[in-house]
Amino acid sequence: MSARAGIVVTGTEVLTGRVVDRNGPWLADRLRDLGVDLAHNVIVGDRPEDVRAALGWLASHGVDLIVTSGGLGPTEDDLTAAVVAEFQGRPMALDEALEARIWKVLEGLRARWPDLDEEAIRRSNRKQAMVPDGATVLEPVGTAPGLVVPPRDGSAPTVLVLPGPPRELQPMWRAAVETEAFGRAIAGRTTYRQHMLRMFGIPESEIAETLVRARDAGADLDALEITTCLRRGEVEVVTRYEPEAQAEYDRFEAVVRERHGDTLFSDDGSSVDEQVARLLRSSGRTIAVAESCTGGLLGGRLTELAGSSEYVLGGLIVYSDEAKVALAGVDARLIARVGAVSTEVAEALADGARSRLGADVGVGITGIAGPGGGTEDKPVGTVCFSVSSAEGRLTRRAVLPGGRFDVRDRSTTVALHLVRRLLLGEHDGP
Ligand code: ATP
Ligand code: MG
Repeated sequence: MSARAGIVVTGTEVLTGRVVDRNGPWLADRLRDLGVDLAHNVIVGDRPEDVRAALGWLASHGVDLIVTSGGLGPTEDDLTAAVVAEFQGRPMALDEALEARIWKVLEGLRARWPDLDEEAIRRSNRKQAMVPDGATVLEPVGTAPGLVVPPRDGSAPTVLVLPGPPRELQPMWRAAVETEAFGRAIAGRTTYRQHMLRMFGIPESEIAETLVRARDAGADLDALEITTCLRRGEVEVVTRYEPEAQAEYDRFEAVVRERHGDTLFSDDGSSVDEQVARLLRSSGRTIAVAESCTGGLLGGRLTELAGSSEYVLGGLIVYSDEAKVALAGVDARLIARVGAVSTEVAEALADGARSRLGADVGVGITGIAGPGGGTEDKPVGTVCFSVSSAEGRLTRRAVLPGGRFDVRDRSTTVALHLVRRLLLGEHDGP
């Protein structure tokens, strides 16, 4: 069995949701890369008894490694190091050399804040230089050192203590992995392989049926850890397995390909965003958008990737009918005749974006995100899409499920898939 780990993310701001946890998911990925099985991710507030309880609970479930994030700062409410020291039965002592190194960092900061009380700074300096007996110190990235705290006896977990700010935690993790104490804690790790398949245009329930078929085809699914999830309108199938199970995985993937070949768009972990970027870049084509119900979300999504200035020219946010006419050049009589939410207007928006911005590919989106504004023939969630280029176009009308947020977000996914297919040479008509 593989080495197992637990994560304890501390911070009342994370517990209450004011700050979205970026450390738990990041550490989960790193542990997986190392072949360590992550059993639990616990979030607790800044209360010593709660941090202690989380450590105790994880230890009682037999993990080999606990990684904590947060609570290493200079203030009174930062108490992770002390709690962990007590938990491991290792008294804290001042590390004078470390104190001097932290003081150097603080002196740099003091030059910027000359009015600070020197005595208070000395006090917090000393607090951050208190190290549990027998712990390995990880050099501070900010002012807080990290710690690898081994157990007093062999059966208990090693605790890796990391600071809360992600820009400090991440480089320190890399240093921690190199230490001997960390290596000892994860000695029992195994190698995992992981594959991600992404599909668009099928319900998640179809995958359940595919699993049944794969089993019938003789795949030993118990050797595979398969998780499926629905994310931004796409079905993601992530499979983790040990190298010996490669043949089982191949059998499973073959069944997926056979049943879902038309909707399987990614087998290398790439997102549709990355594929569209790659296709635009490799063909040297540019793109422009005209968005109504998504109000710029597609433009935002297209520009999330670094380097997007090579192919994204810009976008028009054409929320009102007047804006559709004035900015995208849609014929006002067309809107009056067929309504703003129509495939005809979506096509006019795509063409308008293309011609007004001089792009090779134009995208038009118009729909009813809700919760109000739906009618019998155009219920909430009705969205019309068109993607056009000199070679042809793809136009679709869909009724997307969910609330306003989901409809708007899902619309950007549908549009990106249409762009991808157009760039791969598909278009409507003969
Ligand atoms: P500091 O010296 O900055 O106080 P610290 O180790 O005590 O470091 P925390 O006080 O727990 O860390 O967190 C400091 C800040 O870092 C938080 O206010 C938050 O902005 C960010 N942060 C902490 N934990 C997380 C997390 N899990 N995900 C994202 N951001 C976080
Ligand atoms: Mg803090």
